[in-house]
Amino acid sequence: MSSKQRATAQIRAASARSCQGRKPDGGSCRTQATAGSDYCFFHDPGKAEERAAAQSAGGRRNRIAVLPTTAPDVRLRDARDVVELLAETINQVRRGEIDPKVANAVGYLGALMLRAMETTVTISRIAALEAVIAGQPVISKSQFDEDHEESVLGEIT
Ligand SMILES: [Zn+2]
Repeated sequence: MSSKQRATAQIRAASARSCQGRKPDGGSCRTQATAGSDYCFFHDPGKAEERAAAQSAGGRRNRIAVLPTTAPDVRLRDARDVVELLAETINQVRRGEIDPKVANAVGYLGALMLRAMETTVTISRIAALEAVIAGQPVISKSQFDEDHEESVLGEIT
């Protein structure tokens, strides 16, 4: 038997076996054992280091990109500040500096903030108009009656 044939036979034999490891509940693993081992990748005692490396690589991949906790607060006093933040966020997500999920949250909150700012501006404009109206003489109901139309118009013209 050549070394290649022996290797192939070993792989076949190995792949036919199931893992000797135990599941957390105590039952047998039943996953196909890896070539040349009595265990699957997850239970092979010789692969502990490799497993840890794979897990930490997965952890790095799954970790979402965010700004460091030391990043200063952004000033959001008016619509221009919000627009600036949104523009900055767009560029950060394009460079992969922040996760798109974080960028989505910033976009959503930014839109809410813009709306709230708009409402605040509208409220203060209404208040200003009300103050102007309050300073005007009150137009009595009778002045709108047809009988008085002429006199009212006469006053205006
Ligand atoms: Zn196993």
